[in-house]
Amino acid sequence: MKIQKIESFVVQQTLEESFSFSQWEYQSRSICLVKVTLENGLYGWGEGYGPSGLVKAGIDFFRPFLLGQNALETENLWEIMYRHSLDYARRGVMLASLSAIDVALWDLKGKLLDCSVSVLLGGRKREEVQAYATGLYFTEGNGLAKRLSDEAQKYREQGFHAVKMKVGLSIQQDIQNVQAVRESLGEDIHLMVDANHAYSFTEACQLARELERFNISWFEEPVSPENYNDYAELRLRTSIPIAGGECEYLRNGFLTLFQSRSVDIAQPDICAAGGITEVKKIADMAKTFGVQIVPHTWGTGIAIAAALQLAGNIEIGPGRLFAPDALIELDQTENLLRDELTQPCFKPQNGKLQIPNAPGLGVDVDKKLLEHFLSE
Ligand code: MG
Repeated sequence: MKIQKIESFVVQQTLEESFSFSQWEYQSRSICLVKVTLENGLYGWGEGYGPSGLVKAGIDFFRPFLLGQNALETENLWEIMYRHSLDYARRGVMLASLSAIDVALWDLKGKLLDCSVSVLLGGRKREEVQAYATGLYFTEGNGLAKRLSDEAQKYREQGFHAVKMKVGLSIQQDIQNVQAVRESLGEDIHLMVDANHAYSFTEACQLARELERFNISWFEEPVSPENYNDYAELRLRTSIPIAGGECEYLRNGFLTLFQSRSVDIAQPDICAAGGITEVKKIADMAKTFGVQIVPHTWGTGIAIAAALQLAGNIEIGPGRLFAPDALIELDQTENLLRDELTQPCFKPQNGKLQIPNAPGLGVDVDKKLLEHFLSE
């Protein structure tokens, strides 16, 4: 079961139409994938969430410590990577490199033991997971509220039960946009808003007060992820649940988030926060604080499969006869890397995604398309 090879691949797509959120504009998508291969030729796939060139450099750093090691020992290998990076990278992109390798190791472990990752994690609690549509970004030109309203209508017709939109342009514009989207969706679909930490505490309080009338299911990253006290204070001042955690890392980071009572919903990204090994522990810890876990995803089918496998296993607290479904994020922006690179392709039916049953993550990369999307 020895690891023979660790390869990284940066795949890229130039977007036909750029889009933006409160922080910057996207003109392309670029993702670093990792393939870990054993002596017997069996391989597993992972990916990192973060700037692809930096994720790749982190994988290069970890490689020599892992070659020749037993791939089944996911916990030990995680610890080796952690100890070698701790002094420089208690947060941030090196942990995305660690996460990418960890995800690939879980894929491999499932293939070696002939079971899906959710079974390896302790068992499947469900066969399908609700996916919420992430879209409704900002585009240039007049008539944004109308365009958002049309896009929201599309998600409704596709069968999504929950949709997330961007805020963070300005309070007045946000109110107009949210009103247009809520009217378009109707009242029976969950609507969440995400500011990507665009606002000060005072602004976030003001926007939350204004948005309460639109029945918002959560307000995501209202303020800087560093300002735990502002999150906690905002939670007390609004009836809208508060979400965050896509910029948080490791058990230690999430412990701070939970102990400060900052969020109702925590959103670790498996491909950044420490991989499947660590996010399983974060999910267990979240339950002890009464916090709901909804994994953040922003990548290829590998990241989606990892989130599905984890969501298939985690406990949705507090537990009752008709408990709510597990939920994951499903980005709907233009992304051929998500739509074409991996098989199976994850298309929700009636807003739900099936958790793959095949060994490991249950997803594979198309060789030809990998070459096609490789960046020079
Ligand atoms: Mg977000």
